[in-house]
Amino acid sequence: MNTRANAVSFKGFVADRIEAGAVLKKPGDLAVISREKMPRWIVLRCPSGCGDDVLLNLDRRTGRAWSLYREFGKRVSIYPSIWRDTGCRSHFIVWKNRVIWCDYDEALLDIGEAIDADKSASVLKILGESQTYISYEEIATRLNAIPWEILTLCHRLVREGLIEEGRIKERGKFKLVDS
Ligand SMILES: [Zn+2]
Repeated sequence: MNTRANAVSFKGFVADRIEAGAVLKKPGDLAVISREKMPRWIVLRCPSGCGDDVLLNLDRRTGRAWSLYREFGKRVSIYPSIWRDTGCRSHFIVWKNRVIWCDYDEALLDIGEAIDADKSASVLKILGESQTYISYEEIATRLNAIPWEILTLCHRLVREGLIEEGRIKERGKFKLVDS
């Protein structure tokens, strides 16, 4: 099931990733790897539904680390936000077991920045030359454009029904609508 979870569920403490894999069943399931009674890693089955397990370091001595807060034993919060720079690229906050999605796509569309027709045509041309999905980042590189501009433009073209966006791991990638 590739559905987004809007909550996380704490499944307990485990010794390693193998044990974590055994207790994580659904998007949003979360376990904590502890060593010598110290919590070291959060293993979170990505709430996006992409199927990946996200590892979050809790050990400040080893560099950038997240903080895990547990109330009543099971209700968890994680700070700061989780922003995946690979895979599904999801960005979300976990607060009192709730997953709060930080989707920037809609916010970008709402800005309503003017985009010139030439750029629109260039994007359609690039997508027209490909049989597969192309990421907005690659299009931006090829057009020497700001990636946010191309992302916004692509989403407008999706609204117009000209192109489509991939799902889950193909988010942020676009192709022409099959005619
Ligand atoms: Zn994901």
